[in-house]
Amino acid sequence: MRTIIESDVLVIGSGGAGCRAAIEASRQNAKVVLVTKGLFGRCGATSMSTTSYNAAFGHTDPEDNPLVHLQDTVVGGSFLNDQELAYILAQEAPQRMMDLEGFGAIFMRKGSKFFQIHNPGSTYSRVCYLDEITGRHILTTLRGEIIRYGVKIFQETLITSLLTENQRVVGATAVDMRRGDFLFFKAKSVVLAMGGAGQIYPTTSNPSDITGDGYALAFRAGAQLIDMEMVQFFPCGLTRPELRKGLLVLEPGEVEEGRLYNRLGERFMEKCDPEKVEKTTRDKLSRAIYTEIAAGRGSPDGGVLMDFSCVPQQELIKRKDEIDRIRDLTGVDLRKEPLEVAPTVHHFMGGVKINEECQSTIRGLFAAGENAGGVHGANRLSGNALAETQVFGARAGKYAARYALERSEIRLEPLRIDEEEKRVFGLLNLKGSVSPSRFKDKVRDILWRYVAIIRNGKDLKRAKSELSSLREELGGLKLSSSSKCYNQEWAEYIEAENMLDVATLVTESALLREESRGAHFREDYPERDDEGWLKHTVAQRCNGKLNLRREPVKLTRIKVG
Ligand SMILES: Cc1cc2nc3c(=O)[nH]c(=O)nc-3n(C[C@H](O)[C@H](O)[C@H](O)COP(=O)(O)OP(=O)(O)OC[C@H]3O[C@@H](n4cnc5c(N)ncnc54)[C@H](O)[C@@H]3O)c2cc1C
Repeated sequence: MRTIIESDVLVIGSGGAGCRAAIEASRQNAKVVLVTKGLFGRCGATSMSTTSYNAAFGHTDPEDNPLVHLQDTVVGGSFLNDQELAYILAQEAPQRMMDLEGFGAIFMRKGSKFFQIHNPGSTYSRVCYLDEITGRHILTTLRGEIIRYGVKIFQETLITSLLTENQRVVGATAVDMRRGDFLFFKAKSVVLAMGGAGQIYPTTSNPSDITGDGYALAFRAGAQLIDMEMVQFFPCGLTRPELRKGLLVLEPGEVEEGRLYNRLGERFMEKCDPEKVEKTTRDKLSRAIYTEIAAGRGSPDGGVLMDFSCVPQQELIKRKDEIDRIRDLTGVDLRKEPLEVAPTVHHFMGGVKINEECQSTIRGLFAAGENAGGVHGANRLSGNALAETQVFGARAGKYAARYALERSEIRLEPLRIDEEEKRVFGLLNLKGSVSPSRFKDKVRDILWRYVAIIRNGKDLKRAKSELSSLREELGGLKLSSSSKCYNQEWAEYIEAENMLDVATLVTESALLREESRGAHFREDYPERDDEGWLKHTVAQRCNGKLNLRREPVKLTRIKVG
């Protein structure tokens, strides 16, 4: 059965960015519909995010202010940031946090001032927080606001494509996964807030719904995406149990005498950074761990061993909560035995290219949060992503609503909807031999082997070729059931296609960038090259093919120096 749902603004994704966009669009008196793949308020990365919201109030360190925040963000991003977007982030993060307080999320205080903590990469103490699950609290309050505004919500609804007419977006198609109904969301503007793509790698801190759909959909609709090669790895994630694989744990350097060993019992960080050893930067730590694993010196579950046997008792007591949490998750008590850890994909800095109004290069199509690129440059500072969801979510909602309210009726050739409906339902009859979940693993395996933390031209070319061969296998997938209700494999097929597209974007962008910058490390080009490469990679689909080019970074506010 096909249903058509009309709105002024369609928001896709119910993380921090999507929720904030829906609220702001409603405030502009637009009719708003919000669609989400998972359960409203419980899916996406925001629901898992821990403590940090960066806002330069200067309450703990009075010297802090938005210009220092901007400087830290640009230096942390190795100057690849869109500096106007970074400026907006730094300027507006405090006000958007006050909005959250207005909605009912009360941040930690010391007296009447916010209690701000220090995070790596920030000059001053800038992190505001609610507690260990700041993201969950933020979502709960946003959810309340959304309900108050009467936004119509579609949960467990998977968006399958964006529809455009004359280079303008006119809505999106979807499947209601509970009933298997085909839906067409007709809208004058669309906000993409579908998060990142952590799930395209085998080990990630991201939840299972974060499969890069927002990037793939935007790409297929013809939007430009920038810096897709910039994938942030967190050095220490769990290697087991399988269900918890990739979850973040504390780093050895955060604890006095916390150490890392390979399978041979070597404390390999002594070689990699003799001075700082485990207290080195996250990118160096990730690269060193990855090297040990790739060289076959990893631990049985494909990690290295984090050992606390030399950690002083006092320190163990200080870290009791985190050590207990790890024990509850894994059964390993760091006070008694080492824990296997491995780098885990955490964040995508690249994404849909947007301007200051969150408008993409397609008319009527807006993007915010991790779905959009440019704010963080080549590396994201801890605490900047939650702030980004609020700052750019609000902007996307506001400008998408204004755009929609100024537009007259939209028209779309019904044939286009028919075609997508036929394609989506046709998938139920696939009779190949490989399951979508196995196919996803193949994509992940290629990325982990060739497009992970240490990259080189030879491996990237191999990845490109293997991903291209994999594309031929798409027709050979099979679904074990043709049921339309809660058919997980059906959704997985659609995600698998998206993952393949995003994997290709990451690989080809990484191949193009012949230098090392931020999260992107090429062993064949180990230096940062500001002369040749102070440039964004820009990916766009033209005549059905991926077109990649370079575009100079505009140093509008801070010069390299
Ligand atoms: C474990 C963890 C801890 C973190 N801690 C912090 C922190 O302390 N501070 C910080 O600044 N950042 C942190 N981050 C990063 C930050 O949480 C994310 O970057 C941010 O929350 C992303 O928000 P978002 O709204 O853009 O996307 P998300 O919150 O990921 O939401 C994406 C939404 O899109 C939906 N969606 C996806 N595909 C489809 C589809 N096809 N159809 C319909 N809906 C779809 C999803 O279901 C979801 O609702 C953390 C991330 C993780 C994973």
